Amino acid sequence: MDHSFKLLIDGTLREGSTTSPVINPATEQTITLYPVASKAQLDEAVAAAKRSQPQWARLPSDERSQALVKIAETIEKNIERLAHILTLEQGKPLADAHREVNGLAGAFRYFATLDIPVEVREDSPTRRVEIHHRPLGVVAAITPWNFPLALIGNKLPPALLAGNAVVLKPAPTTPLSTLLLGELIADILPAGVVNVIADRNDLGDAMTSHPDVQKITFTGSISTGRKVMASAAQGLKRLTLELGGNDPAIVMDNVDPKFVAEKIFAAGFINSGQVCCAVKRVYVHEKVYDAFVAELRSLAATAKVGDGAATDVRFGPVQNKAQFSKLQTYLNAARTDGEVVAGGEVMAGPGYFITPAVVTGLSNGHVLVDEEQFGPLLPIVRYADIEEAISAANALQFGLGASVWSADEAKAYEIATRLDAGTVWVNQHLDLAPSIPLPAAKQSGVGVAKGIEGLLAFTQMTVLNFRKADGVNSAGARR
Ligand code: NAD
Repeated sequence: MDHSFKLLIDGTLREGSTTSPVINPATEQTITLYPVASKAQLDEAVAAAKRSQPQWARLPSDERSQALVKIAETIEKNIERLAHILTLEQGKPLADAHREVNGLAGAFRYFATLDIPVEVREDSPTRRVEIHHRPLGVVAAITPWNFPLALIGNKLPPALLAGNAVVLKPAPTTPLSTLLLGELIADILPAGVVNVIADRNDLGDAMTSHPDVQKITFTGSISTGRKVMASAAQGLKRLTLELGGNDPAIVMDNVDPKFVAEKIFAAGFINSGQVCCAVKRVYVHEKVYDAFVAELRSLAATAKVGDGAATDVRFGPVQNKAQFSKLQTYLNAARTDGEVVAGGEVMAGPGYFITPAVVTGLSNGHVLVDEEQFGPLLPIVRYADIEEAISAANALQFGLGASVWSADEAKAYEIATRLDAGTVWVNQHLDLAPSIPLPAAKQSGVGVAKGIEGLLAFTQMTVLNFRKADGVNSAGARR
């Protein structure tokens, strides 16, 4: 690749202190070297953000909205380049990469339409109480490798609209698309308002414990999320943690197995299963179990797996070698304790390819059901009684999403209200939009991304409370 990727620090594109290779997971070849920031460069980025933030916050909010729209336009203009690099480094099919880039532009456009509300909670003869939301200051934004660009959409647009400055860090196996984004938007924003650095998985703690960082927005695994929370504790920093999921889907006895199998196959294996709120375990009523599994088998048998850069591929490789090895351990456990009835073939290299695996004969208590597999392996658990399925679905530490599938909408609704998850879908899964809040329940995270709630998560609520009993202050207090 002839492009030389750079860090963005204080409005200028910089070399790193060293470089490291980025591997294409479809070929295991090095795509290029990326710049790795030193701790001193991280400190420079935080200092630049701190310096630029007050002036950025003082701009009228429409000017910040306009900057968001310009960023969206720039992303849309560069969709081919961004999608191409995303496929090269992440592995996903090019069509999915296009959707991801469009999704990022859509997030900038959505947040550009929002206003930070000022709510009048009380306006009585004696007092006026207003609720304002102010920026927090410097935001540290950390992303994982499954949706390197889309997840920026939960962080950068709301943080910027609210008047914060940001230091953004991608995962070390997928840094290129984020670095390119930084380069493309560098001239749209005042120097220092957005900084993009990259690391070798070694600057996260320095970012989250940095005394000049007021807010952390982190997406990644539960185990790293715990470290982030501990590291942020000293400064009592504001936190949004979007962590791992193990979403259950409950399929009731009255569904059309073909229709539901198609939808669940898509929601389980999209991005090769590397989606926080993919379907990761399916509880199917015994009446429709065999028909449902037969449909999944035929879907798995016909799904084309290969290099995401090829045109006719539905699923790309697993993103990195560590995850590829972990999935093979799960596959071995599934073969020992249950049955892999379709797929699960580790394709001859190069590339980290596993064909979509449909697994039967397991239940709660098995690692492939209890843990987040984060890959193309889907356990299908048989149940006889709906109460049994509900308690199995709720039994784990995860609480990102869940779904119920039924021809009886009233019954599905009733079950949906009993599932412990931030989002519960009925007769669908993974229906996401920038305007729909994405809360995390239990150990799947802390706080809410997306929507107005996701915007307010980048602010400090401030109450203005005016006394006006004697009339002295009332005029000034009125808006
Ligand atoms: P990870 O936790 O290993 O890494 C995520 C990011 O954290 C990377 O940028 C990494 O460099 C950084 N990091 C590493 N150590 C750190 C530390 N001590 N402090 C701060 N940052 C540190 O996660 P991953 O393997 O890249 O991503 C997969 C996980 O992300 C899965 O569990 C998946 O479910 C989750 N995820 C959640 C959501 C959501 O919205 N809830 C979305 C996507 C992915």
